[in-house]
Amino acid sequence: MFFARGETILQRIQCLPGNEQCCDCGQADPRWASINLGILLCIECSGIHSFLLWIQYSLPDMLKDI
Ligand SMILES: [Zn+2]
Repeated sequence: MFFARGETILQRIQCLPGNEQCCDCGQADPRWASINLGILLCIECSGIHSFLLWIQYSLPDMLKDI
């Protein structure tokens, strides 16, 4: 996956087609991201799928330098 300069993994995931809504239930503005799957989910669905690697992207840009 190619990252533009200064672009975070989470920003990259947000730009993927369909990620403006929860991947599972369709709720707008999902706040949880799966780095390994490249999808976004709302808080309810992220709880259901909590066995996956989830990162809440409202946290500080801790992944910026990866
Ligand atoms: Zn959902």
